[in-house]
Amino acid sequence: MVIPPMRETASGIRAVVRCDELGTAPYSDDPAGLFRPYLGAGHAATLDRIAAWMTEAGMTARIDAAGNILGRYEGQSPDAPALMIGSHVDSVRDAGRYDGMLGVMLGIEAVAWFAERRRRFPFAIEVIGFGDEEGSRFPVSMLATRAVAGTLAGQDLDLLDADGTSLATALEIFGLDVARLDHAARPREDVLAYVEAHIEQGPVLEAEDRALGVVSAIAAQFRFRATVCGVAGHAGTMAMRLRRDALAAAAEMVLAIERIGGAGTDDLVATVGRMEVRPGVPNVVPGAVEFSIDIRAGTGAVRDRAAEAVRAALAGIAGARQVTLDLELQQDLKATPCDPGLTRLMEQAVQHAMGIAPRTLVSGAGHDAMVMAGLAPMSMLFIRCAGGISHNPAEAVRVEDADLALRAMTDFIERFDARAAASAQQGTQ
Ligand SMILES: [Zn+2]
Repeated sequence: MVIPPMRETASGIRAVVRCDELGTAPYSDDPAGLFRPYLGAGHAATLDRIAAWMTEAGMTARIDAAGNILGRYEGQSPDAPALMIGSHVDSVRDAGRYDGMLGVMLGIEAVAWFAERRRRFPFAIEVIGFGDEEGSRFPVSMLATRAVAGTLAGQDLDLLDADGTSLATALEIFGLDVARLDHAARPREDVLAYVEAHIEQGPVLEAEDRALGVVSAIAAQFRFRATVCGVAGHAGTMAMRLRRDALAAAAEMVLAIERIGGAGTDDLVATVGRMEVRPGVPNVVPGAVEFSIDIRAGTGAVRDRAAEAVRAALAGIAGARQVTLDLELQQDLKATPCDPGLTRLMEQAVQHAMGIAPRTLVSGAGHDAMVMAGLAPMSMLFIRCAGGISHNPAEAVRVEDADLALRAMTDFIERFDARAAASAQQGTQ
């Protein structure tokens, strides 16, 4: 892809070019690719660079007690509550350059757009780059987001990274005061809404030839551990009709799970991603198999129905094959619906930017917005990415799409302002 030269004024091109700049050393801890874990050297260098861009765009930049970067563009009066725009600046190992970062860069561009036009609103705009969403350093994800939403627990400070460094120590090494960590939490009255632009990380928009999509909800998720027990036996001597082969049963179960996942609405997905066969040697009929089941859908009801169908199908297969089945629920994440009012504004903004009716879709992946929804009404905008590929150096975004996303974001902000003014008007009548 040939990227046009960076513009001096607010643009999606500049957002993309800046993501590219932040995709290598010194902004990465891995000289060979992009790896930017929470509170690492690459994270520190990245915050310096972003702070400079925020300042240049007309914001006051600061780093909060959890290592998040915040740029504030004041409203018509100081101390006005804020419309918060953001995403994460951390990355997985061997990452793509746009996951998270593009949302932060587009936030900066949106502010630059209004600052260039000397436009102020009755509310402030804050652009936030969360330090930890991916959980690529500590065993828990969204630590920095939860610090802002006020849902970080005291025991999280004792979490250890792979080198045995605790979160408390890592914060101190980064130059932050652990005793003040709770200052990162924002009071509800400070934040009017949270808006996040993010690459889709899926193939839907590309398949439908659309640059942008509006997220209706972040999927509900179940994760189960299934254990199937049959009888192990000699692969040479045990007659086929006498076998109770745990792997053959599990194979039938995997296909049933795939069928149930595919038979539901578009946003229902069911996956077996891990399987362990015991004893797992060529000359023994498998005696036991353990596998994972991941089920996600836009609503808890759809997810629950699919889980019930999976349960019934697996029990039927186990009965017919005379093996035992144990299903253990390991994770139960509720769906996070986007705010209906903000979603309508985002749909209008996308329609305005693209000139066609917007596509609404469910996010199968988790995002900072999931946690921020606990603090403020939330809306999300998805941007097409090549092949739906993410968490991979091959991640790619078209600059024209980033430009459209910027147009949708600024239009959303205008509509947000108009809606606030209209409801204030109503309040005074
Ligand atoms: Zn992300």
